Amino acid sequence: MRVIPLLFFILALTVSCGTGTSSELKLEEIRLRLEVNQCRLVLENARYRVMSWEYDHGERIVTGDELRAALPESLVVCPVTLEPYILETGPDARHLTCPVGHESVELMEE
Ligand SMILES: [Zn+2]
Repeated sequence: MRVIPLLFFILALTVSCGTGTSSELKLEEIRLRLEVNQCRLVLENARYRVMSWEYDHGERIVTGDELRAALPESLVVCPVTLEPYILETGPDARHLTCPVGHESVELMEE
């Protein structure tokens, strides 16, 4: 006799879960934002390390190989995907960019 209300309860629960995609979306959004923050922290750290390396050595880092030689492994890859960061060297600006588009920082020129 008590099976029917329970069944309704389960049914109602599954229906509410089905329409609960907006909260799932929100969770996904939060996860993404955390990943971006994580990546940004590493990029900011990498920028600082590049600056101090260049100050110490009196040279500029312009290629990805030079970057990987100067910085520890943990600062040259995205902490989320572990893909190597891209160093773009232009005529008046250099950017260190995450390949999956989390974040990009500009390296200051002396
Ligand atoms: Zn990243």
